[in-house]
Amino acid sequence: MKITLRVCFFAGVLALSSCATNPFTGKQTMALVSNDQLFPTSFQQYDEFLKSNKVVEGTTDAARIKRIGQRIAKAAETYLNANGYVGYLNGYKWEYHLIEDDQKNAWCMPGGKIVFYTGILPVAQSDAGIAAIMGHEVAHALANHGQQRMSAAYIQQGIAIAGNVAITDEQSRDMFNQYYGIGSNVGAMLPFSRSHESEADRIGIVLMALAGYNPEAAPALWTRMESSGTPEILSTHPANASRISSLTSLVPSAKAEAKKFGITTFTE
Ligand SMILES: [Zn+2]
Repeated sequence: MKITLRVCFFAGVLALSSCATNPFTGKQTMALVSNDQLFPTSFQQYDEFLKSNKVVEGTTDAARIKRIGQRIAKAAETYLNANGYVGYLNGYKWEYHLIEDDQKNAWCMPGGKIVFYTGILPVAQSDAGIAAIMGHEVAHALANHGQQRMSAAYIQQGIAIAGNVAITDEQSRDMFNQYYGIGSNVGAMLPFSRSHESEADRIGIVLMALAGYNPEAAPALWTRMESSGTPEILSTHPANASRISSLTSLVPSAKAEAKKFGITTFTE
């Protein structure tokens, strides 16, 4: 009881003092830990991950992941600039790497650090299928879901007090590892909340359409994913009938949004 009250109090104070606006939804979100604090840890952990895993270089598939990633990031920038968020992506350092591994998985760490595993490519099937995954992962990064999750964790653990946070590098790293679990086993990464998942779906499908990929590939992808055994990505991205039907219902609005930017034909 006491703890709950304290958490509520902190959350209330923080809501007043440490908020960010989500440019895609207009909603205020908790930003107790700033991207300036979060990104360096993320970038460092990503580099460590790349060093200790088999990065695929110089293949058609590696180039494909980079090309699709760049198109999605470009679409995000176009969208943000058009909606009055010029400079929103300052500090982001996009990187897209393919890792030789049978896992059917992909993820994005704060600040735009993306990994695809070769195991997911047969399920992704096409460029549009890859773009559906990429759009969703990039959306987590753009909507600062990592930042919100870390902020909530700081409060829960009593590290944050009344909006003044003195987080040591060590605490920051420990917390990051706890949530992103990238040390030895990425499968241990904790899933985002259901609301963050559906938000990433809504933003992601618009991004893929803006980048010129057919948004119809998104519901088709998650349908395939569900019927392809037990892909690791489903442990962090549960696909179920309601998720797939809501993606299907988002296709027309994603195409309409793309049309505003002159995009009317789509890559499959
Ligand atoms: Zn997700």
